[in-house]
Amino acid sequence: MLSIIEKTTGILLIGILVFNLSQRKHIKHGEKKRFASLFLSFYILSLFASIKIIERFLLPELSFPIFLLICTLPVVIYRKKLFLFKTNCSSCRKRLPIKHILYHDGNKCEACNDTEK
Ligand SMILES: [Zn+2]
Repeated sequence: MLSIIEKTTGILLIGILVFNLSQRKHIKHGEKKRFASLFLSFYILSLFASIKIIERFLLPELSFPIFLLICTLPVVIYRKKLFLFKTNCSSCRKRLPIKHILYHDGNKCEACNDTEK
């Protein structure tokens, strides 16, 4: 069971870090989302590290939910800063393009951004 979680978190960690590197190009208008993906990768890394701790110190596999709870608590507390990736415009509810969802801090479509200026 733990080996499946270990492999999944390893793949997820690499995927999120590659995504974070792709966000570097959009740092002018997507800094908050870049930090959000970085902190999500820290969360995944903490899960990976907790599995390694369980294996290293020969703890029972049932201790993983305790580690999971400890690692997930900061994510729940800072969820508004971490989950910024909205799929719809915050004012007109129109669906946003994927590039805007992933790389732009403001969750508003171009039409709503233009009317604000
Ligand atoms: Zn809009």
